[in-house]
Amino acid sequence: MSAAPPNVPDAPPVVEFRGGVSKVFNAGTPKAFTAIRNINFRIEDLPGRGEFISIIGPSGCGKSTLISMIAGFSSHIPPTTGEVLVRGEPVTGPGRDRGMIFQKYSSFPHRTVLRNVTFGLEMHRGELGLSRSAMDDLAADWIRKVGLSGHEHKYPSQLSGGMQQRVAIARTLILRPSIILMDEPFSALDEPTRLGMQRLIMDLWHDIHATVFLITHSISEAVYLGDRVWIFTRSPGTIAVEIRDLIPPSAGVDPLHMQESPGFKQALQAVAEQFTRVTGS
Ligand code: ADP
Repeated sequence: MSAAPPNVPDAPPVVEFRGGVSKVFNAGTPKAFTAIRNINFRIEDLPGRGEFISIIGPSGCGKSTLISMIAGFSSHIPPTTGEVLVRGEPVTGPGRDRGMIFQKYSSFPHRTVLRNVTFGLEMHRGELGLSRSAMDDLAADWIRKVGLSGHEHKYPSQLSGGMQQRVAIARTLILRPSIILMDEPFSALDEPTRLGMQRLIMDLWHDIHATVFLITHSISEAVYLGDRVWIFTRSPGTIAVEIRDLIPPSAGVDPLHMQESPGFKQALQAVAEQFTRVTGS
């Protein structure tokens, strides 16, 4: 039992898959395809902290399917079996509480950096009640946080891949989602840029206290950023292993320094061994 103060009800989990969640695409047709099967987990609400879950597994095993169900994409909900709950409620569509960052730079080409970053605020203007100048101030703050000050009036095509991904991050985080879904966000970037993005995510994450699901092909990225690492089986995927206790804390530690630490190397080796065992690769 959790130690909630008297008379304060336990908060529901931030995300819960229960009842053996599966997703069969084109169910009932000759093209029926089971993408994920029998997935069950609870991510508890950790006030003022959040949790970072890294997901690794072979291509096509259903990792994107899992986070698309949390995102509430119409192509992915409802589940075929089981229930997908966010804060205790079944997911029925996308929401401002959930932000997604994809591998492909998802900025609008015809909007400047500033207007890309204000986009979400404009979309939700009615609820947020922000004036144009308040939106611009907030956007300027996020543009600074992601290291793009001075580039506000450029268009995405004038930026490098890493800078475009910084725009996507600012555009998503400005809405302060409590759940962030990242689908191989850095896999198109070169190694130094990728390390820079890992530093940035680590810094920002501790600022916004969200629950993060990160799909990555990089075991070292999974271990550096994650509090826990899930390893998926081959298709149809399910969570075969969760590695948690071995993962060393990395808050405030540079990824390059982290890679040198014995605890990190040990975790990396354990995850790599489990990955090979689970996937046979
Ligand atoms: P991963 O992210 O692990 O690479 P995905 O979740 O993208 O895997 O895909 C798992 C499987 O589900 C793939 O074979 C893919 O073709 C299939 N799939 C994904 N989305 C759809 C969809 N909307 N309709 C039909 N099949 C889909």
